[in-house]
Amino acid sequence: MESIHPSVNEMHERVKEDGINSVLDRFDEQNSRCKFCEQGISCQLCSMGPCRITSNAQSGVCGIDAAGMVIRNLVHLNMLGTEAYTYHAIEAAKTLKATAEGKTPFEIKDKKKLIWFAEQLGIGTKGKDIKEIAVEVAEFAIRDLSSHEPSKIVKALAPEKRKEVWEELDIMPDGVFQELLTVGSSSMTNVDSDYVSLAKKAMRMGIVTCLGAQVVIETIHDILFGTPKPHDSYVDLGIIDPDYVNIAVNGHEPFVGAALIKLAEKEEIQEKAKKAGAKGLRIIGSIETGQELIQRFETEILAGLTGNWITQEYVLATGAIDVFAVDMNCTLPTLAEYQKYGVKIVPVSKLVRLKGIEEGFDYQPENVEEIAMKLIDMAVENFKERRQKIEPYVPERVQSVTAGFSTEAILEALGGGPEVLINAIKNGDIKGVVALVSCTTLRNSPHDYHTVRIAEELIKRDILVLSMGCGNAALQVAGLTSLEAIDMAGERLQEVCRALGIPPVLSFGTCTDTGRLALLVKAIADYLGVDIPQLPIAATAPEYMEQKATIDAIFAVAYGVTTHVSPIPPVTGSPEVVKLLTEDVEKLTGGKILVEEDPVKAAELIEDVIIEKRVALGI
Ligand code: SF4
Ligand code: SF4
Repeated sequence: MESIHPSVNEMHERVKEDGINSVLDRFDEQNSRCKFCEQGISCQLCSMGPCRITSNAQSGVCGIDAAGMVIRNLVHLNMLGTEAYTYHAIEAAKTLKATAEGKTPFEIKDKKKLIWFAEQLGIGTKGKDIKEIAVEVAEFAIRDLSSHEPSKIVKALAPEKRKEVWEELDIMPDGVFQELLTVGSSSMTNVDSDYVSLAKKAMRMGIVTCLGAQVVIETIHDILFGTPKPHDSYVDLGIIDPDYVNIAVNGHEPFVGAALIKLAEKEEIQEKAKKAGAKGLRIIGSIETGQELIQRFETEILAGLTGNWITQEYVLATGAIDVFAVDMNCTLPTLAEYQKYGVKIVPVSKLVRLKGIEEGFDYQPENVEEIAMKLIDMAVENFKERRQKIEPYVPERVQSVTAGFSTEAILEALGGGPEVLINAIKNGDIKGVVALVSCTTLRNSPHDYHTVRIAEELIKRDILVLSMGCGNAALQVAGLTSLEAIDMAGERLQEVCRALGIPPVLSFGTCTDTGRLALLVKAIADYLGVDIPQLPIAATAPEYMEQKATIDAIFAVAYGVTTHVSPIPPVTGSPEVVKLLTEDVEKLTGGKILVEEDPVKAAELIEDVIIEKRVALGI
């Protein structure tokens, strides 16, 4: 298996020549997959299993049928995604509180955002000190996530018309911890065996995951590090200069990376690196931690973003990284082996531990500066040795991108409010808007091929794309989030992009940004006075990979959005579940799952959905 990106293929060759196994090889080694697992009809929850649904056995030993088994397997994946988002949300809230109490090197950078969020949550702000408001917001968030009452954050942020639908379906959620407990306890052996009931519980959990946990995460990142604004940045492996002390940050949480940037901006730190023989010290962004940083920090200290999770081993194989600091999910288990390229792998979250790696730090807001300083010292020491022992090899390609299209930035770029966007949609200059929220996978195509192809096809059809997650990095590296991509769009979208000076694919953020996107969609629906399913919008996850992606898709369906997914999810073993997700649920929430493996056909189907919605709206 290969990659759509030449730099990744170039590094894959180097790794192969060095006799080291990497993700592209391991995918091929797996050969064919278990058909039962592929279809979601295998279960090993209890000692009577593993059980499989076959023509001779229409249920597991306990009696659960194919539909129950399939949906139960799916909700187990969803729970893991929800847990990771919630963990991150709690860390973010603790960091906000500690910052307000003067215990971190950070500051309340976007006070307006803090006040907006406090007011949304019903927290009075008049006459209060900004730090006092920050503490109240952080405590409110932690309380609400843990609440066994209906989530106040969801009630405050959900569109009115959606709330009516959710009340009717009995899927207005409690706090996210409570929903996790409900789903987890329901999906044990011999508890809830009704696939419709389990699907509804998953939707409740999806709603509070996105509108509760994810909105908390991204709003707090904005409060602490600034709401993203469009600016130039750089991506692809060529951003790494081996003559610098290079610290790469990988994962999803920006806290250690932000502390590193703050320290690295100090002259004495740069001097320290120079004394070791380097040109200076730089921070390198990898996957979503990098994406969080390049959206918000415009500084030469931050070299840019290398790419998405499949690029990790190839980044290390450049022999040009000194410390690879890893937080939360999406760190490959093989990284210890790559230390032969002169890099030190250092976990900075208690969640991440790797076989063969002894050193590591557990992030706490109060010790973030100390961790960052230790990483800098380790990297400077490492540089001396790396430069003596390792001959670096860095592909040359660097791609410039426009990063930082937050909701506020999009509305500003489009004239200050939703009117310009809505008018462009009404008159057909923009046929519709698609949120591309995706991981990257090798399951059905070379690395990033599906993501790039579907985005190309959508913009060609005058459909504006907002990109998030590893899919965003795929499109950034492929040049689609740059102004030069305007030529690839349909004529009418080209005109809009030229007039506003925006690319046809707007780099919206990380895989954690689904909640924020939901608020942008809400603003448009509220302005038009319609419900979400009526809007000419859709979502696509052309290369979903892990468990955060599956809970995002469930949320999108509950939110009323038609959501394309590829590869085919492990649900095909039950025609009832397939029908529920791809047809029946639309009658309930207005959203549904669209499955199509071919990216061109998928773009056509998405365009059909958008045209249908336009016709229904009479535009
Ligand atoms: S829970 Fe049911 S289907 Fe699953 S392993 Fe046990 S008996 Fe088999
Ligand atoms: S988009 Fe998916 S694969 Fe990429 S970093 Fe996020 S969870 Fe991991």
